[in-house]
Amino acid sequence: MWDWNSPPIAIRRIEIPNQHFMRGQPTNCYVLGRDELVVVDPGDTPGADLVLEHLANCGNRPVKAIFLTHAHPDHAPAASVLRQTLGVPVMLHPDNDPIMREHISWNDIDCEINPDQLLHVDGEAFSLVMTPGHAPGHVALYHEPTRIMLAGDLVSGNGTIGVFPPHGSMSAYIQSLELARRMQPAFLLPGHGPVIDEPEELFDHYLKRRQDREVEILDLVRSGNRTIDEFRAALYPDLDPQLSYAADSTIRAHLIKLFEDGRVTPDSGDMMTSDWDLVAGHPITD
Ligand SMILES: [Zn+2]
Repeated sequence: MWDWNSPPIAIRRIEIPNQHFMRGQPTNCYVLGRDELVVVDPGDTPGADLVLEHLANCGNRPVKAIFLTHAHPDHAPAASVLRQTLGVPVMLHPDNDPIMREHISWNDIDCEINPDQLLHVDGEAFSLVMTPGHAPGHVALYHEPTRIMLAGDLVSGNGTIGVFPPHGSMSAYIQSLELARRMQPAFLLPGHGPVIDEPEELFDHYLKRRQDREVEILDLVRSGNRTIDEFRAALYPDLDPQLSYAADSTIRAHLIKLFEDGRVTPDSGDMMTSDWDLVAGHPITD
């Protein structure tokens, strides 16, 4: 079992509150290292003060870099302020370009990371694991000796992960889950919620859920449902209206994957607004 009082490597967690995106659920910022530090996902703007306070409480040891798993607004905005205050580089994969928000721009990125790089902290090497899907250019960090994976939003300690087209991709997300599962991590440190002590079980659960959803959605198309409203009503009959954007996005992400697999087709050219139909003559959908 994971114990924050005696973690297997030098790592600490700061919970950063979210006011807008992911409201009500804090983002986990992780501080890696003992002598030289790397700050992973400092979160939305309140994260800047919280990270600085944490660093002061730990004796203001030198920060080497700020690493972003992806550029979503609940993970990245504080990086701009910390970069200026601490004078340290921000690292991000360039595929995040389409999801950059007003709080962070390419001018704030000093190091465009690539999957062949290693991130060294106190002489420990972390490999960079490309895990796109939830966001393009999503990168997890993996410490082989302890099998600790800093998983960003590949998984959550509090439920499932949303996939938001057009930038999010369900097929990429499923492949990323399979890749991470094959690496057999012992601990997943997610972007939200508690540490996951049984990664294999969680990956199996996530993969089965996505597979089941895909079958359900294909069945709904087969039985004549065409619009996102119809799919949502059938799949989430008691949905809290606040969650309808996430639900609609994930349904659309599944439909786009089914389109890529040749099972369904959009009725119009724009998959973000289109209704959906079966692909005539497909041996599986017929
Ligand atoms: Zn995210």
